[in-house]
Parts: sequence; C-alpha cells; structure tokens
Amino acid sequence: MADSRRTDVGKAARLSTTTGGSHTIRAAFHVHSEWSYDAELPLREIAALFRRERCDAVFMCEHDRGFSAERLEAYAAACHEASAGGPLLVPGIEYADPQDRVHVPVWGPVPFLGEGVPTTKLLRAVAEHEGVAVLAHPVRRDAWEIFDPQWLELCSGIEIWTRKWDGWAPNPRASRWAAAHGLIGVAALDLHQPHQTFPLAMQLELAAPLSVEACVQALRLRRCHAIIRGLSAAPLTHGGLGLAARALERLRKPVWRQGRRMRKRFAAVR
Ligand SMILES: [Zn+2]
Ligand SMILES: [Zn+2]
Repeated sequence: MADSRRTDVGKAARLSTTTGGSHTIRAAFHVHSEWSYDAELPLREIAALFRRERCDAVFMCEHDRGFSAERLEAYAAACHEASAGGPLLVPGIEYADPQDRVHVPVWGPVPFLGEGVPTTKLLRAVAEHEGVAVLAHPVRRDAWEIFDPQWLELCSGIEIWTRKWDGWAPNPRASRWAAAHGLIGVAALDLHQPHQTFPLAMQLELAAPLSVEACVQALRLRRCHAIIRGLSAAPLTHGGLGLAARALERLRKPVWRQGRRMRKRFAAVR
C-alpha cells in the first residue's frame, strides 16, 4: 500500500489538540467511497462530509472486490489528492473471506492481498507487512460464530461498535474480547451513504505530525480509544450504562426501521 507518503494536512491539523510531545486527533473509521462496488460517494465529498464532522482523519475502507495492485496504488494516490483541504484520508481495504462472512479492514504498508483470501492467511500476511488488521462488525451474518480464537491474537483490533450493524449501543461480546485480548476496541461507522454519519469516532495519539504513517503507527502502538460525541465510549461497553444503552437500542431499532419505511413510501408517491 503506497501509504508511506507523508501527508500533512493544515486545516485538519488545526482541529486536533496537542498535549506534551504528543498530538491528539479525531478519526472516523470504516468509510466506503465510490471505489467500493456498493458505495457512490467520491473521495472529495467524503473529505467535505468529515470536515463538517470536525474529523482530522478518516480511515477509508474499500471492499476488496475488483481491486488489484495497480488499482490500490491509484486509490492511495486519489486519497492523498482528496486530502488536500483536510481531513486526511487514510487508504484501506476491507477484505472478505471466501464465504463473504468475515470482513477485515486493513491499513498500513500492505500490498493488495487478493479477493476472498481465507482470514488466517490474510491476518498472517498483514502482520508480515506490519499492517494493521481489524475484525469488522462481528454481528453481520453472525460472523462471530466462526471466529477462530487465533484471529484474536493475530489482529490489532476488533470493531466493538459499528454504527451500521450495532446501532446506538456497543457490542458487549466484541467489547469483552477486545478487553481480554488487549485489542483496540474500534468504534466504526461502515458508512456507505452520507446520511450514515454518527458522532462515533476514534481518538488517536500521534507522536508525529498528521500523516498516514503517523495514524497507522498510533494503531500499531494501541494509542487510541473509542469516543462518542468527543467523550470516551468505554462506560457504555459494560456495566449499568452498557445495559441501558442496549435497552435503548432494542426500543429504537424497530421504530427507526418503521420510520425509514414510511419516509421511502412517502418519497415514492411524491
Ligand atoms: Zn463489511
Ligand atoms: Zn464496510
């Protein structure tokens, strides 16, 4: 992955805060652009969207389908170009296993590894290239049921809260696994359309000016944590607040779905 280039982004850097020698930034995770077969947003629109969300970086995540070594290189260059006005777009690929059940977003200096690569093989290859791999949305197609325990040793993180799949509450099982295995508990969006923004992000502590490499290095060193509306999401991952958040989500989901159906119906008859 051609992400070793340094991309200093003036406007985005001004949104971050500095404490001591390190530098704290806000990053959105798991965002698809028109480079994914099932999303339509151009990279420039994604940059504009997350500029409004006051993010310093966006960890992009395109499906492996249709990618190649050349396409990945062109994509990394396109991310670099679209980052000019901030935030920094960090190029990444979301790999799917042969059954399209387990998804693994990958960032860092990793060449394109192919489509439908078995997960153990994929995680070993990412580690060899010093990349960062995250187990995505364990609830999608009940992927967690087929998770191999060794994956939790091979990966850097697991999505403990994916807006698209978990709704308004974190996933308790993924949160427990992250804590037990010392993994990054990633708060992700899995955004495909602009209306899917949500104040869920990661706070990263960078030891160098904002760049793709500095962002990936913060993940390697686990210098990051999940935030919601700028506050730590940790209290929602367990205990009484976690139970309350899940109870709220159980109430919200059916109402939300019904509302979406009504809006679609209304739009169709207009
Ligand atoms: Zn996915
Ligand atoms: Zn995705």
